[in-house]
Amino acid sequence: WNSTATAGLKADLLRVTKTENPKALVANKDLIFGRTFSDHMITAEWAENKGWDAPEVRPYDKICLDPSAVVFHYASECFEGMKAYKDKQGKIRLFRPDMNMARMNRSTARIALPQFDGDELLKVIGEYLKIDKRWIPEGRGYSLYLRPTMIGTQESLGVAASNRAMLFVIGSPVGPYYPTGFSAVSLKATNEYVRAWPRGTGDSKIGGNYAPGLLPQLLASKQGYQQNLWLFGENDQLTEVGAMNLFVLWKNEQGETELATPPLDGSILPGVTRDSILSLARSWGEFKVTERYMNMPQLRDAVREKRVLEVFGAGTACIVTPVKTIEYNGEDLHIPLDPSDPTAQAGPITKRVNDTMMDIQYGEIEHPWSVVV
Ligand code: PMP
Repeated sequence: WNSTATAGLKADLLRVTKTENPKALVANKDLIFGRTFSDHMITAEWAENKGWDAPEVRPYDKICLDPSAVVFHYASECFEGMKAYKDKQGKIRLFRPDMNMARMNRSTARIALPQFDGDELLKVIGEYLKIDKRWIPEGRGYSLYLRPTMIGTQESLGVAASNRAMLFVIGSPVGPYYPTGFSAVSLKATNEYVRAWPRGTGDSKIGGNYAPGLLPQLLASKQGYQQNLWLFGENDQLTEVGAMNLFVLWKNEQGETELATPPLDGSILPGVTRDSILSLARSWGEFKVTERYMNMPQLRDAVREKRVLEVFGAGTACIVTPVKTIEYNGEDLHIPLDPSDPTAQAGPITKRVNDTMMDIQYGEIEHPWSVVV
């Protein structure tokens, strides 16, 4: 489904209105993920008969919508999560932003919202970042989290594709996920609730995928587990961790050291971090790197046979999250962290992945993935 027959999104039409009331910055130490927002936002409106209107950078403010707008009723919403980094020279960098644009267009297509030219939106994001540059916090681990979002705005209770849409981007200064170093998490392997399924929408970043995960997440946290390990199918296949992709470093059934992650079969979100880790680990050439199915009984046996080396979640917000425990059918399986250091909260490969990714994101290592704005 494609709506590009009408006017495309054009960065050179950008209209800029700067705020007259710049807000006070929040000190790095006081940043809480996703609670503080910068001075400006990007907006662009789309209508079926006109296409995209001129994009705008304007003061961050409320959005006024009719209560009948489809987004409120049928979850006509998709979003992205990406970060802008300030390097040591003060340059603004994005990490593989083309992947976020491409994924957002796949998400909008899946919920019958319009397509847009990702390169044009990236140009607008570049302008926005220059305007809100002071909101990109300095320091390794700090960044401006960007939330591109599209919503269906047609005023109608009819269940149909929206004939109007709004694209907006907001920015939130964030600190390191683990301000005092890594802290490994405990997971509840969840088969009572299912996050995604073949030919469903698990590979789209749509709001409708997330609300149904909130209750299972709450129930897991009441039992002392920070995240759900989402399972699927009769044999309790491993899929994702909370809102992260899953990686297992183990000695596989053939005795080979293998870094494995579930394959992109339509029920897994194609994470930018996931793709980057696969590519980095393959370039190291030190162990087998595989996209493959794994199930809980296999993982449980591997834990019992001491074949599991490290397990971690991967995503933009945290880069990696080490896993120390997985509860499965009433049993806590203990995942090793770093056997050489009993106080460590992450295994050596988990740490190395994290450090390499950060080196690239902050321009410490020159890499084509890190794009200067
Ligand atoms: N899975 C899900 C369900 C997610 O919401 C996210 C976060 N976007 C990820 C995985 C990780 O994706 P990325 O590496 O692109 O942040």
